[in-house]
Amino acid sequence: MAKKNLFGYTFEAMRDEFVAMGETSYRAKQLYTWIYKKRVFDFDQMTDISKSFRAALKEGYCLTLPKVIVKQISGDGTTKILLEMEDGAKVESVLMRYSFGNAICVSSEVGCPMGCDFCASGILKRDRKLEAHEMVGELMAMNLLIAEEGVSVTHIDVMGTGEPFDNYENVMTFVRIANNDNGLGIGARKITVSTCGLPEGIKRYGREGIQINLALSLHAPNDEIRNKIMPISKAYPMDQLIEALRDYQQNANRRITLEYILLSGVNDSIADANALADIIHDNDLSVLVNLIPYNEVKEKPYKRSKREDVSAFFDQLKKRAIEVTVRKEFGHDIDAACGQLRAKTILGGKADE
Ligand code: SAH
Repeated sequence: MAKKNLFGYTFEAMRDEFVAMGETSYRAKQLYTWIYKKRVFDFDQMTDISKSFRAALKEGYCLTLPKVIVKQISGDGTTKILLEMEDGAKVESVLMRYSFGNAICVSSEVGCPMGCDFCASGILKRDRKLEAHEMVGELMAMNLLIAEEGVSVTHIDVMGTGEPFDNYENVMTFVRIANNDNGLGIGARKITVSTCGLPEGIKRYGREGIQINLALSLHAPNDEIRNKIMPISKAYPMDQLIEALRDYQQNANRRITLEYILLSGVNDSIADANALADIIHDNDLSVLVNLIPYNEVKEKPYKRSKREDVSAFFDQLKKRAIEVTVRKEFGHDIDAACGQLRAKTILGGKADE
């Protein structure tokens, strides 16, 4: 039987499994300390654990991490890595350096099934969902890489390739592992999950009972525009999304980030800004609108909005009393857009420059 990867265990699951093996409930705390605090992955070096239990661990479990096969470091310090999983699946993760900390952008699936028309991730078909231990692997691989600088990952955005709510259970297991104080202890408020808009996932997320953040990739103020750029919008139109957001807000009582990529001539008019403000006000949504400069993708027809159109859109939202920011751009000199590095590596340079 294949060994089970301990990076996929929540603290509680590990504790229960070890107790069922006849060990004390303290074993999980020891293991979490070794792997997440001391970063020791060799059972033989875990000296406060009995020899017999170490033997049992070696027999049934592993602590395998993905392999870093490509590493790109941008002038601004943004670090992008391409990881290879045990079955050969390739996944991207990115680390962005902010004044407030180091945020990793984690992929949740191998490729993405959502097919947003502007996004490089959809160029390759989705192969499979990622296991929780593989997402923890993204985080640990990044931590090991930046350890030499004396820093570690402080914030998590599940905003890389894939749709997290298409892989709900594994994503939440990953979040709970990263959040647990016996290990990495990354605060729930420093963790954000971004969805393209799956209403059931949004409602469920609001009931998780921890203070994690929700981001919604809205990108359009109405179904007409959204249907053109995001096929998922045909299955879940705007009214269903709004209903889910209201439900989320009732349960989680947290401000939602609305992501809005500005695409020239598609969704960046003043009328679009007003329509967006109307939806927000009409539904009493507590939101921050994050305007995203589009990273152009060679295979796609979309262009980023002109600087003056971005300013006008921003100003109009401000005028309408909406909280709004423009996303800081990172890693322009590397394959910054979601899925670009992966597509380029797999397609041998055909996907993007
Ligand atoms: N499926 C999830 C998370 C992954 S995409 C979601 O849709 O939210 C993460 C964010 O990057 C989304 O807002 C997505 O629309 C955006 N994005 C995708 N391609 C982009 C590009 N080329 N330039 C800028 N943002 C992009």
